[in-house]
Parts: sequence; C-alpha cells; structure tokens
Amino acid sequence: AEMFGQLTSGLESAWNKLRGVDVLTKENIAEPMRDIRRALLEADVSLPVVRRFVQSVGEQAVGVGLIRGVRPDQQLVKIVRDELVQLMGGEVSDLVFAKSGPTVILLAGLQGVGKTTVCAKLAFYLKKLGKSCLLVAADVYRPAAIDQLVILSEQVGVPVYTEGTDIKPSQIAKHGLEEAKKKTIDVVIVDTAGRLQIDKTMMDELKEVKQAVNPVEVLLVVDAMTGQEAAALVTTFNIEIGITGAILTKLDGDSRGGAALSVKEVSGKPIKLVSRGERLEDLEPFYPDRMAGRILG
Ligand code: GDP
Repeated sequence: AEMFGQLTSGLESAWNKLRGVDVLTKENIAEPMRDIRRALLEADVSLPVVRRFVQSVGEQAVGVGLIRGVRPDQQLVKIVRDELVQLMGGEVSDLVFAKSGPTVILLAGLQGVGKTTVCAKLAFYLKKLGKSCLLVAADVYRPAAIDQLVILSEQVGVPVYTEGTDIKPSQIAKHGLEEAKKKTIDVVIVDTAGRLQIDKTMMDELKEVKQAVNPVEVLLVVDAMTGQEAAALVTTFNIEIGITGAILTKLDGDSRGGAALSVKEVSGKPIKLVSRGERLEDLEPFYPDRMAGRILG
C-alpha cells in the first residue's frame, strides 16, 4: 500500500486529460486543475495550501507548449513536481548542532505519536553519524515511559539519564545536561511528557524545560495519520513554546499525505525527519524532492 496512492492517481487523471493538446490554455487546464485540487483535498491537505498551490500551478501552466520535445502535459507534471518540492520546504532541513558543548534536542509531542521511540531512533541515527548521545527521561507522569526509554536505550547502546518521577522535568533535564557535560557527550535528547490533548500544564512544563537547558533543536513529533491537523499542531506548539521543526511519524501507515504537504506551508517550520516504521533504523531525513517523486509515482 503506497501511502500516496490515491493522491498519485488523482494527479495522474489530471495529466491524462491533457494528452495530445498542443498548448495549455486557461480553458483546457480548467478540468485538470479541478482534479489536482480534488486530489489534494482528498489527501487532507489544508485548504489555504491547496488554493495557493492550484493558483500557482495554473499561472505557470497557461501558455506552455511543446518545448524541446517535451509535451505540454509532461511539463505540467514538472510544474506540479517543482511546486510540491517548494511546498515541502525545497531543501532538506538538516539538524543543527551546537558549536561547543552538548547539543540539546528537546522532543515534544502528544501521547501516542511515537515520541519515545523517536528518542531511541534519533540516538541510533546520531550514533551512525559518529555522535555520542545521552537520553534524558523527563516524562514524569508515566513510569512506563521511563521503563520503555531504558529498554530502548539498551537496544541502541546509549546511556539514559533518569531520576524517577518525584522531581520536576526541568530539573531532570538540567541534571541530565550537567551529566552530559561531565562525560563530554555530543547530544542530549530530552524526552518530555505527552498528553492526549494540548493543555496549559504541558505547555508550561515544556517552556520550563526549554528554559532550563536552552536546546538547539526543539522538535515536535507529529503523527502523519492526523493529516492537516499535524500542521495545526506544529503551528500551535511553535506559537506557544517556539520550535525549530517537526518529526513526522507513521509514514508507513495509510496516511494520505496531508501532513507532509501542509506542515511547512502552514506553520513556517520544516519537517526535519520522518519515521517510516517501528524499527530503530526507520528514522531518516525528510527529502522534499524524493517525497515529491513518490507522490508523482
Ligand atoms: P509516545 O506515546 O509518543 O511516546 O509513543 P510511543 O513511542 O510509545 O509509540 C506509540 C506506538 O506507535 C508504538 O507502538 C510504536 O511502536 C508505534 N510507532 C512509533 N513510530 C512509528 C512509525 O513510524 N510507524 C509505525 N508503524 N509505528 C510507529
């Protein structure tokens, strides 16, 4: 099951209607543009994003004829591809590392999105880049989350800093960072508490943790299955606590693409990494051009 299957075939029906035309006109692209619009909306892309997208593609398409043997319908594919890449931020957005001392990466997110497993996957990923890591368990509400982090850290082969659940998350994070400095560890990954919904307690706590450890990266973990809601969440967290980007999980599920396509445009923050499965090696950078390629099939 290809995640963008429906989107891919929806877009295909747009080009198919333009087979054999000599030049793209306002008239002959009207119906195909409606197909594109419908395909994006069905993929759960946010409406304002769809509007801008369709308008921009339409403007570029009108007047396009045969260029160097490339048919107009094929050129429309190229226009859509380029526009998709732009929509997703253009370039890959690399993780930023501190110039000196440990780089602190703060992970936030609602419960169940895959935050705890992302901690371990991120450590695994950074380890491959030659960086030493320390995981910090600052989710004090669910003892099970700490246990899970300890088990995962053993699988990755990285240490985990815990202080139980009777101490403030900001203190745990601070002590964890001190520990990392002592041991000259490169990256500290702080796992924070997730809740079912956004609430003030969670936001206040995140602000406190952020203030205590001054992270270089504050990444919101979002579930791709939530579609355009993912983009709304990134926006809210960014306004509330200030984030540097998002990690999109469960891209291996039957998400329709709306999250991947809406996050950057809606929130202004890039998707930095994506998770496509439950294994440690299933986390990778987000490449807008490759994603566009997959969407176009
Ligand atoms: P948390 O509550 O945000 O810490 O979520 P967990 O890390 O405990 O993950 C919740 C569930 O989602 C677990 O069963 C994970 O194995 C699963 N999960 C996390 N990321 C992915 C992913 O990218 N793909 C799939 N298929 N499952 C995932």
